[in-house]
Amino acid sequence: MEKETYIFEILKKDDFSDIVAQADHIRKENVGDEVHLRGICEFSNFCRRDCFYCGLRKSNKKILRYRMSPEEILQTAVLIDKHGLKTIVLQSGEDIWFTKKVLVKLIEDIKTHTDLAVTLSIGERSFDEYKAFKDAGADRYLLRFETSNENLFKKLHPDDDYHERLKCLQWLFELGYQVGSGSMIGLPEQTIEDIADDILFIKKWNFHMVGVGPYISNNDTPLSGSKNGDFSIVQKFIALVRIFCPKVLLPATTAMDVLRFDAREIILQSGANVVMPNITPQRYKQNYRLYPDKQYTGEDPITCRYYMENRVKKIGRKIAKDHGHSLISIRRK
Ligand code: SAH
Ligand code: SF4
Repeated sequence: MEKETYIFEILKKDDFSDIVAQADHIRKENVGDEVHLRGICEFSNFCRRDCFYCGLRKSNKKILRYRMSPEEILQTAVLIDKHGLKTIVLQSGEDIWFTKKVLVKLIEDIKTHTDLAVTLSIGERSFDEYKAFKDAGADRYLLRFETSNENLFKKLHPDDDYHERLKCLQWLFELGYQVGSGSMIGLPEQTIEDIADDILFIKKWNFHMVGVGPYISNNDTPLSGSKNGDFSIVQKFIALVRIFCPKVLLPATTAMDVLRFDAREIILQSGANVVMPNITPQRYKQNYRLYPDKQYTGEDPITCRYYMENRVKKIGRKIAKDHGHSLISIRRK
């Protein structure tokens, strides 16, 4: 069967336990039983963009904006390093207060004072900036393509361009980052064909990491009142990504927990092998509202870290002790 038809058929299926079992087996054979913990620090919710789906969009006046200082971010990195995490994911809105100079110093400081791998997730920047961050020691970059449907991308991003986004992803590969990307599942107007195309897009780009999650409707955005993504489609998507990209790093992302309390356990048993405990200091994280109902917004970083570890262990999986770098070769021209 042609790949596209195969994906489409599975995405429509009601009984897909065989696909999940196959994906779980492929995961075990290719990347083993270990789950990688990546501590995510949401260091600023200021954003210069206006993506229609996101609560951090600059036109949203309903959230309290905050920005952690570089010293505070470094302290958080040192704290999680002491508690055995191996990666810090630095995520924010597109906040240009964090200039090239400020971020380079921050990355260098984290590298000097900890043994952490550093992942950046700060949106679109220039080639020159991406290069400076890489030279300062950043290991990975997370930038979702959001949807492979160019028209839908245009509708959702009043101030962004699909080809610019792809150009950024291309630069990140050229610069030798381990590149993570992915999409949202269940966006308004997105069809099953679009979702099938996202999987083919992921396969074609051969990303080191694939971060996908359901779209969660946010009433503080122009898409207020739309439906959330469907959990079973998310689960099928994850299984298919593992089947098509056997060695990829595949997280069970935070947004899934909005749909089911046991979502991440199910997703870890459907092909995923990464989770990202939220290590943002407690006083800030309730304001990092990409979407509503985010879990553990009240817990401190270390509680979140061990809570996540316990969830992983309860399903009989181990916590990885190494940095969990990609098994796919890094540099690609
Ligand atoms: N500003 C950076 C990083 C923060 S946003 C960037 O845009 O890359 C990180 C991710 O959150 C986005 O890529 C998007 O896929 C996701 N996101 C935003 N709003 C969401 C929503 N309403 N539901 C689910 N995911 C959302
Ligand atoms: Fe800003 Fe990222 Fe949200 Fe878009 S998705 S509004 S770039 S934080």
